[in-house]
Amino acid sequence: MNLILMGLPGAGKGTQADKIVNKYGIPHISTGDMFRAAIKGGTELGLKAKSFMDAGNLVPDEVTVGIVRDRLSQDDCKDGFLLDGFPRTVAQAEALEEILAELDRQLDHVVYIKVPEEDLFKRLTGRWVCPDCGTSYHEIFNPPKIAGKCNKDGSDLIQRDDDKPETVEKRIKVNLDQTQPLVDFYGNKGYLRNIDGKQDIQDVFEDLDTLLKGNNR
Ligand SMILES: [Zn+2]
Repeated sequence: MNLILMGLPGAGKGTQADKIVNKYGIPHISTGDMFRAAIKGGTELGLKAKSFMDAGNLVPDEVTVGIVRDRLSQDDCKDGFLLDGFPRTVAQAEALEEILAELDRQLDHVVYIKVPEEDLFKRLTGRWVCPDCGTSYHEIFNPPKIAGKCNKDGSDLIQRDDDKPETVEKRIKVNLDQTQPLVDFYGNKGYLRNIDGKQDIQDVFEDLDTLLKGNNR
C-alpha cells in the first residue's frame, strides 16, 4: 500500500499515521526522520542537506527528492509506505510521480484528513500547562477541574507561545496555503480522498481503514 497522508496541524495526522503503520506494517516516512537518517548515515545527499541546514537555508527540492528516492528504494518499503510531510509542494509531487514511475510503483491512496479551520483553531489553542509541575491540560479534551488552575497544585495555568491564538492562526494559514495546491493537484488527478477528521479518533481511523481496504485507483 503506497500512501500519502495529509492534514493540517491539529487534524490528528500523527495519531492516525501511527494506527495505520501498526495495522498495515508499512514504514511511516516523515520528512524529518528521513533527513535525520540520511545525515546520520553520512550519505552524499544527507551531507548536502546538512550543509544547507547548517547555513540556515531551506534544503532545495532536488536534494529532498533525492533523499526520498533513496528512502523509497529501501527494502522495508517494498510492500508499501506511508508518506507524511512529503510532498510539500507541487514540484515535489511531480517529482514523486517520476520517482514512483522509475521504481515501477504508483500511489494507491492520497488521503486528506479534513477538519474545518475553526475546529483546528479550537484544538490548537486549547492547551494550557502548569508552570510548576508541567502537567498539561486541554480546554476541550482534558480540562482542569477548576478553570485555569492546576489539579495537582492549584497553580495558575499558562499558555505556551506556540499555542497562543495569533501564533496558531498564522500557523494554520501558512499550512493551508501550502497544502491547498497539493489538494488541488491530487484532486485533479482524481485520487484524493477526504476523511472527516472532526469525528473522534477511533471513528476517523475506521473511515480510513475502510478507505484503505478499497481500491481507489
Ligand atoms: Zn501543577
